[in-house]
Amino acid sequence: MSHVSIEHRVDRLHAGGIIDMHFDLPMDLYEKRTQPDVLATEFLPEFKAGGMGLIGAAIYIEDRYLPERGLQVALDQIARLYTEAEQSKRCVVCRTHKEISRALDSKKVGFLITMEGVEPLGDDLDLLRAFCELGVRVIGLTHARTNAAGHGGIFAASGSSPEGLTPFGRDLVRECEKLGVMIDLAHINPAGFTEVVDLTTKPLIVSHTNARKFYDVERNINDAQIKMIGQRRGVIGINSVLVSPEQKGSTLDCYVDHIEHVASLIGIDCVGIGFDFFEFIYRQWPESKKKWVAEKLTTPHFITDLTNHSHARNLTRKLIERGFSDDDIEKILRENWLRIFGELL
Ligand SMILES: [Zn+2]
Repeated sequence: MSHVSIEHRVDRLHAGGIIDMHFDLPMDLYEKRTQPDVLATEFLPEFKAGGMGLIGAAIYIEDRYLPERGLQVALDQIARLYTEAEQSKRCVVCRTHKEISRALDSKKVGFLITMEGVEPLGDDLDLLRAFCELGVRVIGLTHARTNAAGHGGIFAASGSSPEGLTPFGRDLVRECEKLGVMIDLAHINPAGFTEVVDLTTKPLIVSHTNARKFYDVERNINDAQIKMIGQRRGVIGINSVLVSPEQKGSTLDCYVDHIEHVASLIGIDCVGIGFDFFEFIYRQWPESKKKWVAEKLTTPHFITDLTNHSHARNLTRKLIERGFSDDDIEKILRENWLRIFGELL
């Protein structure tokens, strides 16, 4: 294919909007809350260049705010997201499948609010309902650290807590299914993962993760876990920052290897995107914090040509180069997540 015809094909594949189910946007909007139009000036140009249609906007609370200010900062992050989306005039917070479809049709960028770690709830189940009313539609019980609901998977091949969920964590999972809040298994430790599967009946998602086959840490998921999601007809979003334990292995081709691996185990209908673009936050950190994160968690390896949303076309070109059909590319970029939203939201 000529360069021009590939670009036309990418245009066509992107026309319906790309769905990325994990982005730490609210945290950055909160940290820059004294500045005007952060979304419109710092993010929207990249969203537009990449053809983004919907982004999972993750509420995440950094250690320094916990425990006392977790609830307040989460509420402020949600407030900033609504305010900035409204001011941008080209973004909109979505709560239902219908609202998502409308955002995609109108060429706006939609946000679906997700929560990465339930620290803002403390151990108060009623707050789940409150956050649900505020628009939170996806709950991941934990990040890497332990909280009132359970334990995170660590960045090593073994050594996460052998414990599953706490009684509060189990109550939360049941309440999420009752309220129609999607349950996200990204980050949770292997014991907690299995327990959530056992406690639930609806499709489950893993918004942003990678296969342990290529990067063997408990924060990623192994083949048995991938198959558990497949049996539920859930969707696994492939993460761009944990594709390989080495910087030199962190390439677009390796990202596509993860897609192919998941598809080979559970089918092309169960794999999507959860980029977790994080370089913009990482580069704002002082060296001392980068060192702390490297020791406590891991050093992220960014894929140079897949570092922010403006690079989404590079992935689509790579999928074309690797021989994926248009139908399959559209499933990965958008349709699989839409199927889940149609079933759950
Ligand atoms: Zn994460």
